[in-house]
Amino acid sequence: MSIDLIANLSYIVAAILFIFGLKMLGHPNTARRGNGFSALGMFIAVVAGLTAEGIVSYEYILGGIIVGSIIGTLAARLVAMTVMPEMVALFNGSGGIASLLVGWGTLYSGDVGTFTAITALLAILIGGVTFTGSLIAYCKLSETFISSGALVFTGQRVVNSLLLIGMIASAVMFCMNPSPDSQWLYVVVGLALVLGIMAVIPIGGADMPVVISLLNSYSGIAACAAGFAINNNILIVAGSLVGAAGIILTNIMCKAMNRSLANVLFSGFGSVKQSKAIEGEVKPISVEDAYYVLEAASNVCFVPGYGMAAAQAQHVVKELGQILEANGAEVSYAIHPVAGRMPGHMNVLLAEADVPYEQLVEMDDINPRIENVDVAIVIGANDVVNPSSREEDSPMYGMPIINVDKARTVFVLKRSMASGFAGVDNPLFFGENTRMLFGDAKESISGVISQFG
Ligand code: NDP
Repeated sequence: MSIDLIANLSYIVAAILFIFGLKMLGHPNTARRGNGFSALGMFIAVVAGLTAEGIVSYEYILGGIIVGSIIGTLAARLVAMTVMPEMVALFNGSGGIASLLVGWGTLYSGDVGTFTAITALLAILIGGVTFTGSLIAYCKLSETFISSGALVFTGQRVVNSLLLIGMIASAVMFCMNPSPDSQWLYVVVGLALVLGIMAVIPIGGADMPVVISLLNSYSGIAACAAGFAINNNILIVAGSLVGAAGIILTNIMCKAMNRSLANVLFSGFGSVKQSKAIEGEVKPISVEDAYYVLEAASNVCFVPGYGMAAAQAQHVVKELGQILEANGAEVSYAIHPVAGRMPGHMNVLLAEADVPYEQLVEMDDINPRIENVDVAIVIGANDVVNPSSREEDSPMYGMPIINVDKARTVFVLKRSMASGFAGVDNPLFFGENTRMLFGDAKESISGVISQFG
């Protein structure tokens, strides 16, 4: 059997593992195994690719495996769940720059035909936009060097359109006479890098997870183009899968926020400020009083948000849920599709605490029966329960929420009156039926648990 045949058979095995892995990621019970399947697929693909092309010797492959495994293990162990979007942004950026370099390198491989020139150039320009766009997304999310808000200025769209047109025109000029020494190549690279920055700065921090998902898709498309440029089947397959998965996820997020992708990319969300001050009285509650109310409740619904992840409160939340069940209450966990900082964030945390999957209820299922809930316990959620999204003059207008304000009683567990990720004040905190249990969510829940004694 020739080395090429072995490589192509390995690629088919890797592609099958990718597809099954992706499918398994769709359910919490199989997600961990799915991740393992995909990682194994990638391992087979990389080793087969490097061996078949005769690029490096076994020693280098082994060295790469060791270095990569150490970095991967450290990242998985040390990076907190709450910083996962930032890490994904950096991964996307790495994918982008890798495709840019592969595309660029291809141009030095001798006689470059038109097809190779076009695909290499696509890898360069999409990879370039992805690289700098992802770095800006990282900086915004971590508030490193720049603030998370939307940075908008007059004529921004005109500038961005001119950059895009200039980049495409330079790319066409390059393809008419493709050579690694062509000056048009440097213009394309430069404009792609600038466009990545300019396209992401006007997008508000609250929309950054959507942008990251979109950039993830771009990194896949860039890799796919690089795969065509170097004629590598598995890179084409893997790139297409990432490209398609990223765009599907982007679409899911936009739908959950009831916004179009164009609105996310161009509206400068977050730069529009709230016009109306909220009136009403804030009613704090103590752990002891919260216990008396919960002790008498027969239907309790937990509504987790980003603050539960920040406080790492999922285990005590589950413990309280079990105590309430033992006390005769019906317990559920209402999940908003964009609660937290990435899709499925709350599902992952609750699965980690072994909360039974059957107790998880989606937003559309809980809302019609929220009036029957005795106590809705909001754990570090804010934007996803903000009733101002029903008001036309609110910057959040139109975003579907979990209607906790319609439950009989609402406990809101957070540390202060601060607004959520979108920076919009929340009238829920002033509601007649709302009681604020101030403090770290994990400490507050632990306090209530100790009252049950
Ligand atoms: P938010 O970010 O709106 O609010 C989280 C709240 O948690 C804060 O108000 C904070 O208040 C509180 N908090 C933080 N730390 C703690 C702690 N240790 N204990 C108790 N409370 C704490 O979260 P949501 O989940 O409601 O909303 C998610 C946001 O992210 C939305 O704007 C959504 O659109 C956006 N987003 C999410 C995506 C996703 O895929 N999940 C995708 C795109 C956007 P305080 O500081 O007072 O404690």
